[in-house]
Amino acid sequence: MSRITFGRNRVKLKKLLGIRLRLALLALLLVAPLMLERARSLEEARGKQLAQVTQEFRDLAERTADTQREVIESVATVLKSTAYIRSAGGIARSCDLMRASLPLNLPWIRNVMVVGADGRVQCSVLNAPVGLDISDRPYFKKARETRDFVFSDFLTARMIDKPMVMAAYPVSAINPDQDSVVVAGITLDWMSKSMTRLSGRSGFTAVMIDSKGTILAAPDDLASLIGRPIDALSLISAIADKALYSEQPEGSLSFTASDGARRDLSFMRIPGTEARLVMSVDESKVTGAINRDIRTAYLQLGFVCLFVLLGALIGAEKLIIEPIEMMTAVARRFGEGDWSARVARSRLPSEFVPLARAFNAMAAQLSQREREMLATNDRLTVMASIDMLSGLANRRGFQSRLDFEWMKAQQYGSELSLLMIDVDHFKLYNDTYGHPEGDACLTRLGETLAGIAADNMGFAARYGGEEFCLLLPNTGAQRAMEVGETVRATIRSLDLPHATSSHQAVTVSIGVACTLPGDNGRPGDLIEAADAALYAAKHRGRNTVVEHGFIRLVDEAGMALAG
Ligand code: GH3
Ligand code: MG
Ligand code: MG
Repeated sequence: MSRITFGRNRVKLKKLLGIRLRLALLALLLVAPLMLERARSLEEARGKQLAQVTQEFRDLAERTADTQREVIESVATVLKSTAYIRSAGGIARSCDLMRASLPLNLPWIRNVMVVGADGRVQCSVLNAPVGLDISDRPYFKKARETRDFVFSDFLTARMIDKPMVMAAYPVSAINPDQDSVVVAGITLDWMSKSMTRLSGRSGFTAVMIDSKGTILAAPDDLASLIGRPIDALSLISAIADKALYSEQPEGSLSFTASDGARRDLSFMRIPGTEARLVMSVDESKVTGAINRDIRTAYLQLGFVCLFVLLGALIGAEKLIIEPIEMMTAVARRFGEGDWSARVARSRLPSEFVPLARAFNAMAAQLSQREREMLATNDRLTVMASIDMLSGLANRRGFQSRLDFEWMKAQQYGSELSLLMIDVDHFKLYNDTYGHPEGDACLTRLGETLAGIAADNMGFAARYGGEEFCLLLPNTGAQRAMEVGETVRATIRSLDLPHATSSHQAVTVSIGVACTLPGDNGRPGDLIEAADAALYAAKHRGRNTVVEHGFIRLVDEAGMALAG
């Protein structure tokens, strides 16, 4: 049972692995690598895009650090020069000198002031803060204590609403007798400017924050957030603390933002400061376009594969399977003997035309041979039922004719008579004249019988040896006896010499039987009856005709008979 199932499965598998599937697979093998290569290159591009974003972030941090260094150095130079000026003379003179000589073309230096030991602003490049008391400012105190450069934490100047940092340098570092401090306000616009390139990038957020988490710099599109705590940036507020309070100079983490998108957050401390650059990337948005392309590429791959598959299947069906089925159908018709069947070449792909032509030629030849064979068969059949010596039908021919006439007589209810004719003393004839002469005699007798048969609508045959028979359809016993007598007399009148016969000539003995073929009788009965009559004729001295009491016997049996 399992074997049968297995066998069936194998047949199914074979069908599946047929030409259609193989073609389809071939087509897919050709197309799929191309499409997959495209998808792979897009995936690669996505990776590169993300790497590029990260690299940009690093570049930005480095640039910012460089600018910071430049700013600090330039500020230090300015403050030192101012401290020299201050240490050289009185406040009024040095203030004038400072105003006249300070290179205030440095855009990030907002103001330079000289602050007295009491913390009051004594001189300012910008007039506004003169007299202002900054004694409580940590940077002021620290500068006096350390006698070195001090930078304040980041703060927002209320008047200009910009993030600033204050730098302080004590004059006492140059002249210990002078207890005043040079202070400069430094704007941080440059930081935002360095981030301009990042403005308007979808899915990308970058800001610079100070140690307390205040946003110091941001690209143009986020400029409104400058001076505000990082919590204002709702998308990264949840994990901003991690970036803020991390001890590490740089790091990155992944999280799900409040909008549900997966985001990566990177932070990096700007060397020499407490400031940190924080960047958050919404991977799906940054790579959104390329993701769409990848999706499209996969979709295209799917569609192309599907179309290629369908194309291959339809192609295989139209170009290979259908022609094969067409030729198979024609071959089947040949097999069933329809020799007129031909493959319609016009409906075939050109590659199949030579095959179809050869096929049709073969069919034509086969049909020709079949006709010849049938004709030969007919000839052989005829030859097989003819006796060559007498020219009459042989026993086989007689037998089939008798069956046919029997059936016909049965159908029409007509009588059928049979004459069995045997040459008398033919052995002696052979002995006397030789076998060849005997043959010639038989030939002569055959011709004679053929003539009589033709005259009486009968059928003459050579039953075997020197025995002939004459079948007389639609002939009653009386008429049959008359024909028998004609045969006997005609042969006798041929006067063929037979020295060893009592008649001195070739004679025949004839047994006659007649019947009305019915359901009970067989053709063999008629032969037996005629034979019996012949036997009787021999006993009656030969050269005589004897009728068999067949009809009477059948009559006695109660059969309906013709008169
Ligand atoms: P009867 O009158 O009793 O029939 O005597 P018969 O000699 O004719 O009968 P028998 O059966 O004894 O011999 C028949 C002979 O016919 C024997 C055989 O040699 C001869 N014979 C049969 N067929 C042929 C044939 O084709 N050619 C020749 N030449 N002789 C044949
Ligand atoms: Mg005989
Ligand atoms: Mg004989």
